[in-house]
Amino acid sequence: MQGSSDVGVLGLGPMGENFALNLLSRGFSVSVYNRTPERTRAFLERSGAPEGLRATYSVQEFVSSLSRPRRVFLFVKAGAPVDEVIAQLRPHLEEGDVLIDCGNSHFRDSDRRYQELLGQGVDFIGMGVSGGYEGALRGPSMMAGGSIRGYGSVEGVLREVAARHHGDPCVAYFGPGGSGHLVKTVHNGIEYAMMGAIAEVYGVLRAGLGMGPEEASEVFESWSNGELSSFLVEATYRVLRYRERESEGPLIERVLDVAEQKGTGLWTAQLSLELGVPSPSISEAVHGRFVSAMKGFREKASRFACSAGPSTAESDLLEACRSSLYLTFVSSYLQGSLLLEASSRSLGYGFDVAEAFRVWRAGCIIRSRIVERAYSALLGREAESRTLQLMEEFHRDFRERMVWWADFVAAAARLGVPAPVTSSAMNWYLSVTSRRLTANLVQALRDYFGRHGYQRTDMPGTFTSDWGRG
Ligand code: NDP
Repeated sequence: MQGSSDVGVLGLGPMGENFALNLLSRGFSVSVYNRTPERTRAFLERSGAPEGLRATYSVQEFVSSLSRPRRVFLFVKAGAPVDEVIAQLRPHLEEGDVLIDCGNSHFRDSDRRYQELLGQGVDFIGMGVSGGYEGALRGPSMMAGGSIRGYGSVEGVLREVAARHHGDPCVAYFGPGGSGHLVKTVHNGIEYAMMGAIAEVYGVLRAGLGMGPEEASEVFESWSNGELSSFLVEATYRVLRYRERESEGPLIERVLDVAEQKGTGLWTAQLSLELGVPSPSISEAVHGRFVSAMKGFREKASRFACSAGPSTAESDLLEACRSSLYLTFVSSYLQGSLLLEASSRSLGYGFDVAEAFRVWRAGCIIRSRIVERAYSALLGREAESRTLQLMEEFHRDFRERMVWWADFVAAAARLGVPAPVTSSAMNWYLSVTSRRLTANLVQALRDYFGRHGYQRTDMPGTFTSDWGRG
């Protein structure tokens, strides 16, 4: 049976195995290979080894089981593993063979890999695949870039397995190099912003209308047929009402509020900063996940939490402007302090943040009375968390003036005056002082479509659920 499979799938994680099943269901014969053979065996068992599926247990066996030109879909973890796998495949590949990296690779890595393989005549395609594991099975949306000749070799296959919108296959070629992965990266950035927005609305439904997960689920469900009709809103209402057992409450309540990430949101934010093209909602969603991951810090900072309470009279707008500016100033120093603390630690510089405040007291552009007060507050104390010490120092100001901050943000919005710095400063403070965030919903949604796993508040370990999808 040498050289008989139409295509190959390398990597049998949730995406690869489902993509392989999709290919098989469209009548293609598929060879599969996975670094860890147990995974291949488990896949054979689970899938019932359908006709056309060929399991292989070495790279050489895998490549030689494919018909020429060989078409190999890679579904391995993004980053170094992709280079490792390409290095293993290269000696076995020939002119005209096509390598399609379907992972969430950085588009600049795809630019590089495209160039590297060009010299060998191997057609490299960097292709973003969206739709989670279910999409991979039933029909994903695919964003390809790289070798146009290679795309010609696989286009027929891709059109067969793609999702269809009124018959039109959702697959496109975007250009050379990493263009396909660039489009997928921005797609994921948008996904981050949408999930972040959903979690924020959930937070307001809870705090503002006193809703529990099941009531909120009903609200999202009622929205899911109108203008908000979307995969993510549908996923949200399913996730919110899912119970593992009838006797227990919704699982979402026991999901740890730490939302993880694999990089694509960050890359979108970096791209936006590099190109000078703002995408603040995406960046904020990335920051939101960072904040959620600061679980230990939030636990400690939660003693400085405050909320605005009822609004002040409109005639006090001037005071709202003054106080809001003050808190945004303090908040900016706090953000800088936290960033310096983390940099000092992770980059191994080992400096004390208090020193920065000492030299900022005079001569520099950010000198201010706040800096003087901050430094005095740090002086003579153990250098544990300087940021927490500063929060302690300024906590009373935040507590007393929160109402002005909220009023300023609301007034600016009503007046149509953009105030992104102030509103993000306020939201930063609210987030880092929150013991519990709605990031549990973001993490549950990630598990819903990607089987990315989640941690629980009631037992240790990493878990994955089907969230009632059957
Ligand atoms: P993972 O990202 O968890 O990757 C698992 C696969 O990568 C396994 O087959 C694993 O092999 C393999 N792998 C890891 N390191 C190496 C290595 N050094 N050498 C060889 N193989 C290696 O699985 P997913 O299926 O979730 O994702 C695959 C790709 O698709 C990723 O890039 C992901 O970002 C992307 N993606 C995922 C989506 C999702 O919803 N899950 C959606 C869209 C894209 P082994 O079994 O031996 O460990």
